[in-house]
Amino acid sequence: MAENKKSYPTKAVIGGRSVDATGRKTFETVNPSTGKVLAEISECTAADVDKAVAAARQAFDEGPWPRMSPADRKTTLHRFATVIEANADELAELEAMEAGKPIADALGIDLPETVATIRWHAEAVDKICDKITPSGPGTLSMVVREPIGVVAAVLPWNFPVMMASWKLGPALAEGNTMVLKPAEQTSMSTIRLAELATEAGIPDGVINVVPGFGEVVGKALGEHMQVDCVGFTGSTDTGRLFLHYAADSNLKRVLLECGGKNPMIVMPDVEDLDLVADHAVNSAFWNMGENCSSNSRLLVHEGLHGELIDLIVERAQGWVVDDPLKAACRVGPLIEKAHMDKVLGHVEQAKKDGARLIHGGRRVLAETGGYFVEPTIFDEVTPEMPLAREEVFGPVLAVMTFRTPEEAIAMANDTDYGLAASVFAQSNKTAHNAARQLRAGTVSVNCYGEGDQGTPFGGYKLSGFGGRDKSLAAHDQYCELKTVWMDLG
Ligand code: NAD
Repeated sequence: MAENKKSYPTKAVIGGRSVDATGRKTFETVNPSTGKVLAEISECTAADVDKAVAAARQAFDEGPWPRMSPADRKTTLHRFATVIEANADELAELEAMEAGKPIADALGIDLPETVATIRWHAEAVDKICDKITPSGPGTLSMVVREPIGVVAAVLPWNFPVMMASWKLGPALAEGNTMVLKPAEQTSMSTIRLAELATEAGIPDGVINVVPGFGEVVGKALGEHMQVDCVGFTGSTDTGRLFLHYAADSNLKRVLLECGGKNPMIVMPDVEDLDLVADHAVNSAFWNMGENCSSNSRLLVHEGLHGELIDLIVERAQGWVVDDPLKAACRVGPLIEKAHMDKVLGHVEQAKKDGARLIHGGRRVLAETGGYFVEPTIFDEVTPEMPLAREEVFGPVLAVMTFRTPEEAIAMANDTDYGLAASVFAQSNKTAHNAARQLRAGTVSVNCYGEGDQGTPFGGYKLSGFGGRDKSLAAHDQYCELKTVWMDLG
């Protein structure tokens, strides 16, 4: 059993209080850099979900949060962002220890993005206007937005606080109350966020956190009759379950952000291959490739293939695999042993299928007990190989070649997913044509990126359902639209 460090946030947060799970049950959270137990986390059950939903329900039905003016919610959420910022070091360390995330990324990307997300949605909320529709004399017809109610957020382990903020920002700004269910591998930073919310003056019951297992806590939230909406980020298989849960319970709104098998196309007219190589390596290996929008398929024109491969391998050698708490670390461990085994299984399968391993491919630093895998590149991957079709969710890049832009677009779209894609081309016409033909929620041109706070993020096909995170689109998904039709006599 782990000796919980005093300061570790390990308990459920319900109605503004840190509480044990029913029966004081706990589960172990493991540091993937060492394989050792970090802490014992409250293991919530359906009974705890009932309590958390009741707290969120009461905060919604009777509490001040949905009744505040948008400007007051904005002020409170700005305070929340400021408190998160003041505690960024602690949150980043928790993310490095639980998720294996390089501390430089946690401090330089995840935490600033989390703060920016809360601020952006806070700032937006008192600028979104309701509508008066042209109903003619004698009537006043208004279309007003109202918060949907109790929103459950079921979260993944790859960007724990950032994904939480993508749900918290718009849902809270619009006046909803929430129950968060962190992934079982990464509970602590989300629990800490809820504690910080209380410190920032967010009323009790507005943010509740129920750590625990998906099949218990996630399912109970999905099936709960008093939950009005579930915002889920995770795998497509689990996302699908939430549609069943909703159908079998109260038809709650379901918003799914799921997996991806994202292509990066390098068109024949590209001149700056150094730029392409930088983005290709970054998009494949950043966050250990445990990133739904990582470009895991590099589709390169056959004329540029040899030169680009050399540049990519050269860069991959600079990605230091190490303890994520060290500043120089660029690649930390994978999230858990089972996941490492799955990623290494993909590597072995790709070798058997005839893909050519040109970099990495092994577990490293095994003596630490951690689950480290080298950045890995396979060349000569063909479209029917599992490596070209399945989401690996690890630092593994599959390189394929094409002859014509039409062939590249067909290959890129030959996937069940549709989350993100990138196109590199000198000609704007080629780039724009490709961008419009790619069936993906985000297409980056001559870069690898996901836009900024103002752009929606979500997927086509098996990558998503029901809405979009980020931007004003995220506000819409946490609101009901009400028509008020007044006969003015
Ligand atoms: P996962 O689907 O295993 O788990 C996600 C959440 O669902 C966790 O909180 C888990 O406890 C819960 N869950 C698991 N089984 C459940 C069940 N039977 N009923 C209810 N809830 C259940 O996903 P993961 O492994 O944590 O995350 C990786 C996946 O997330 C990848 O597929 C990745 O592409 C995806 N992802 C997508 C986005 C996006 O924005 N599209 C962002 C990040 C991650």
